[in-house]
Amino acid sequence: MNDAYGRRLHYLRVSVTDRCNLRCRYCMPESGVVSFSHEDILSYDEIVRVVRILANLGVDRVRLTGGEPLVRKGVQYLAADIKAIPNIRFLGLTTNGVYLPEMASKLAAAGVDGVNISIDTLDRKRYEEITRRDALPQALDGLSAALKAPFSSVKVNCVLFPRSLPEDWLSVISLAKKYPVDVRLIEWMPMTGESIEDAVTADEAFEIIEKVYGVLQPARQNVGAGPARYWQASDFKGRIGIIQAMSHNFCNECNRLRLTATGDLKLCLFYDIGIALKPMLRGGASDEQLAEAILEAIKHKPRQHAGKPMVLEEGGICSVIEPTSGMHKIGG
Ligand code: SAM
Ligand code: SF4
Repeated sequence: MNDAYGRRLHYLRVSVTDRCNLRCRYCMPESGVVSFSHEDILSYDEIVRVVRILANLGVDRVRLTGGEPLVRKGVQYLAADIKAIPNIRFLGLTTNGVYLPEMASKLAAAGVDGVNISIDTLDRKRYEEITRRDALPQALDGLSAALKAPFSSVKVNCVLFPRSLPEDWLSVISLAKKYPVDVRLIEWMPMTGESIEDAVTADEAFEIIEKVYGVLQPARQNVGAGPARYWQASDFKGRIGIIQAMSHNFCNECNRLRLTATGDLKLCLFYDIGIALKPMLRGGASDEQLAEAILEAIKHKPRQHAGKPMVLEEGGICSVIEPTSGMHKIGG
């Protein structure tokens, strides 16, 4: 399945819920969000149907995300059903890790290949300040559970959000020294119109990392999956990944589609364009009709974004989806 610019779209991120057990300051308001009701969000059967149709069109990698995917009950059953779809070669899950101690082995048994765990500091007080919850011990137990599960890949995501401190992300990077995990620093994205000025760029972080951990050598890169570029520090068991989400535009390599919890197939992180699949799923559309609508919609995937939320010019045929405000609704 190629878009109008010849990009092969084969990676789907599925947000299974907009709810979360944490309240990261750069992602969610303190009061949480007005959660969708049960009927508003796609059922597991509906998600599996959409993934099956997309797999027939060429999607071969799926990542479950949220909100926090592990707050939705029985997500391991969804994982097993998705992994059983022919053509799905990789199933990942992105989580804050807090519920991984009890879920990791169930997810591995269900066929989840890899988990990415989001941890922004190893300082318990700072973690509480950032996430508004005192849950660092649980998240770190989640990392240990993930390493034992076993998954074929365990990564840690750390966001360079505005006013994050070098101590925060340097401490998280030390996890790659101790464990065979890749730690990825992700440039913060201003999803809700905030100023980017206070955010650290990956280049600035890189310089500081080299001062602390020595010169980084280019490491083995993962082929075709995502925009992270990997580096190796001496004596480290895992790699250091850098995701220049803002300072380097990788739209020309974009291979992604996103399915929101309410059933919108979103074409670009920064644009509210895509196709609302829920009315079709619940209105009796056949698999062929859904596939046709999806193929028509992907012709409208924007060539690139400008690093801030954008609106589509008047009259775009697939500007019908809900505006998404904040990453918790899109899933990263
Ligand atoms: N709750 C799960 C978690 O935190 O991993 C999954 C959903 S979360 C929205 C997915 C990823 O997006 C996390 O790694 C999170 O740190 C990252 N994220 C959230 N808001 C972001 C932003 N404004 N810019 C960059 N990354 C962001
Ligand atoms: Fe929740 Fe993940 Fe957003 Fe933090 S980043 S509030 S854990 S959805």
